[in-house]
Amino acid sequence: MSEENFFDNLKKDVSFSGNREKEAACLKRYNKRGDGVLDLEEFHMMCLDLFVEDGKSCALSETQSRQIFEQLDENQDNYIDKEEFHILWRYWLPMILQAKAALIAVDVQNDFIDGSLALTDAEAIVPVINRILEDESMFEQVIYTYDWHPENHVSFHKNVCMRELHSTSKITQKEKACVFDTVVFDGHVPMEQTLWPAHCVQNTHGAKLHADLKIVKDHVDIYKGSCDHVDSYSAFFDNQRLAQTDLATVLCSKRITDVYVCGLATDVCIRHTAIDAASLGFRPFVVDDACRGQTKESCDKARREMEEAGCIMISSTQVKSMVEANTRMPKAALQAAENVALARQKAKVKLASINGDHGDKPLSNGFDAATSNLLDL
Ligand SMILES: [Zn+2]
Repeated sequence: MSEENFFDNLKKDVSFSGNREKEAACLKRYNKRGDGVLDLEEFHMMCLDLFVEDGKSCALSETQSRQIFEQLDENQDNYIDKEEFHILWRYWLPMILQAKAALIAVDVQNDFIDGSLALTDAEAIVPVINRILEDESMFEQVIYTYDWHPENHVSFHKNVCMRELHSTSKITQKEKACVFDTVVFDGHVPMEQTLWPAHCVQNTHGAKLHADLKIVKDHVDIYKGSCDHVDSYSAFFDNQRLAQTDLATVLCSKRITDVYVCGLATDVCIRHTAIDAASLGFRPFVVDDACRGQTKESCDKARREMEEAGCIMISSTQVKSMVEANTRMPKAALQAAENVALARQKAKVKLASINGDHGDKPLSNGFDAATSNLLDL
């Protein structure tokens, strides 16, 4: 019988990250050369134990190990020294072994399924999301978002005559604008807007979630696009970033590290929500077969953009194993290492500014929420 995986054992200890004895023992275990610091080869051996797929060892290249190593080797001397190992142990490993997950079901509303903005085959995602939610207890929080527009909303084609066009708008005559055209509206800041058919009007049947969608107890509803003058594709911010919803606050209050994003539409609200989640320091996993979008081309483009922004595309069959950390992907661990490195940088800037030295970097780009979460600031 093979020895049980070192990290599978560690995973079961809820307070391992504060245990300095276990930390020292782990460093010793992989430091075969016995000099108290890990080189790349030793780190690679550790990663071979750490990364698994459904409990079995998975393919891991030296390049993948090196990319992670470079993020964790803060002073870039090609060794993970004792202090760097402490950061690895305290912040990086818990994100891999004991991540806290939320599911965000984006806009699974009638109008996007069989109503005024129906997407091809959208209804097929409902049973897929319901299967993911069969074991809802694996999520710390489940969130349903709603596109939630007033009748006079800026995104409705029928309302185009209610507002002035900006001189940069390619379409210069309002009456010539068609559904799905993009115009630029005049205002404090010129605002590009795609003109959609009227959809998801507050308190109508079209704005309701699909009747068969499983609604879990203690969920949170997030409403977006409820201001008449600005659209909102992301569940975090409106398109002008004038205001934010409660979503980041809800996630931070539950100390969520990972968000699993599904729903409608891949190339619009899923794309914006997942990319914003990454920019805020959460790890976004996009459950591709639980999403639908407009066209194959626009969805492929959105997938590429999401991946470039650090989102990880997965299938619904992987969710449970990933949430329970029986699948631990190198790609997701790299994302965690990047988040730790960014959070460390941010923390330093923050400390510098507290000490009166403002450094040369701006303090806030939205990453602070998850940073504070991660580094207990
Ligand atoms: Zn909308």
